[in-house]
Amino acid sequence: MSFQVAIIGGGWYGCHIASSLLALGFSVELFEQSDRLLSEASGNNQFRLHLGFHYARHHNTRLQSRDGYFRFMERYSDLSKAVLQNVYAVPQTDSLIDFQTYRMIMTSTGLDFREGESVPIEISNIEGFLFAPERVLLIEKAREYFRKQLEGHLNLSSKVKEIKDLGEHVTVNGRRFDFVIDATWGHFSSPGMDVFYEPTMLLYFEGPADFPAITLVDGPLCSIYPTEEPEIFTLSSVPHTPLGRYATAGEARRGRDSVTNEVVIEKVEQMTRQVSQYVPEFRDGFRFMGPQLSIKTKPIGAYDDRSCHVWKRGRIFSVLSGKIDTVFFAVERILSFLEAGNDLRAPEVPSSLRGDILRQRAVIGL
Ligand SMILES: Cc1cc2nc3c(=O)[nH]c(=O)nc-3n(C[C@H](O)[C@H](O)[C@H](O)COP(=O)(O)OP(=O)(O)OC[C@H]3O[C@@H](n4cnc5c(N)ncnc54)[C@H](O)[C@@H]3O)c2cc1C
Repeated sequence: MSFQVAIIGGGWYGCHIASSLLALGFSVELFEQSDRLLSEASGNNQFRLHLGFHYARHHNTRLQSRDGYFRFMERYSDLSKAVLQNVYAVPQTDSLIDFQTYRMIMTSTGLDFREGESVPIEISNIEGFLFAPERVLLIEKAREYFRKQLEGHLNLSSKVKEIKDLGEHVTVNGRRFDFVIDATWGHFSSPGMDVFYEPTMLLYFEGPADFPAITLVDGPLCSIYPTEEPEIFTLSSVPHTPLGRYATAGEARRGRDSVTNEVVIEKVEQMTRQVSQYVPEFRDGFRFMGPQLSIKTKPIGAYDDRSCHVWKRGRIFSVLSGKIDTVFFAVERILSFLEAGNDLRAPEVPSSLRGDILRQRAVIGL
């Protein structure tokens, strides 16, 4: 059955959902307020194709990342590239868990990693480390890929201002659809769980192209990760990257947009000091290029939940994304909601045997 579906938001989630539903024969229109795809969080993050090594404290997030990674590689392998040396290191004193526990959690999640190799640079104050086969996302290539995939179905520079659920159908800015999917990461309508909005600042640094990716786990630590450009890296820090905590998306956007030079300079100093405790050559080997500002939408709770959630209210779906590799769960849940509501039921077509019997009956006037 071909439904008319409107999707709000052209981030990784909106783009993936749109291209998946198109492939299934749905009629799809995507509305994105910016003039290009992947303009908000999807184009401003650490670009890590996660396998789960980041999430020692949330089982479901690890499982979704692990499974999502392999599905991502099947479907979008050209949209990422390998990180040759990707080190996860557990510091001696500042981590919430010890290295053996960390290693055991990753092993029991079924994650593959390498050990016993040396790191080509000095990493100080470390209890143990392993190498994870994660990748880096290629955002510019992804933009181009989705622009082509969704040609004829894209409405760029189109802000959705109003959705109305009228029971039998729904309208988006006055246009009629069967269903609408809010893939704005909670910026258009509130998700179905309590969340807060966190403006963030990562820092772009220029450094040696062959420098390894280094992530210190687990707790208030930091990481250096490559980008799609060989000599550009992001530096992220659990205590210093957040710029505040807001109840609404609008407040968070105002918080992000009011960041001053003084705040940037302070963050550069704090984050450089933090990473240099573990990677002494960072201070002299890397040059600050500029900040990357973004907004995270996070579930309120004690655990580190970054799994994907989907809700359906009437004809309106809302998606709370987890990580980028968890996009597949969003489509699965949308389809299972439609199936549960019998919306996907195919029209009844009589089998050919029944058709033949009915024709014979008609011929002999039964
Ligand atoms: C600092 C940081 C680091 C991160 N690091 C990683 C990482 O390394 N790996 C990883 O997998 N994930 C990471 N994430 C998470 C990842 O960025 C998000 O999970 C993902 O990008 C969310 O995608 P999305 O499509 O749901 O949202 P978005 O990318 O934010 O897309 C939502 C879209 O909706 C549009 N929109 C909003 N309102 C409207 C409207 N009214 N009308 C039309 N359009 C509208 C916006 O313009 C935007 O393009 C990170 C996030 C942050 C902030």
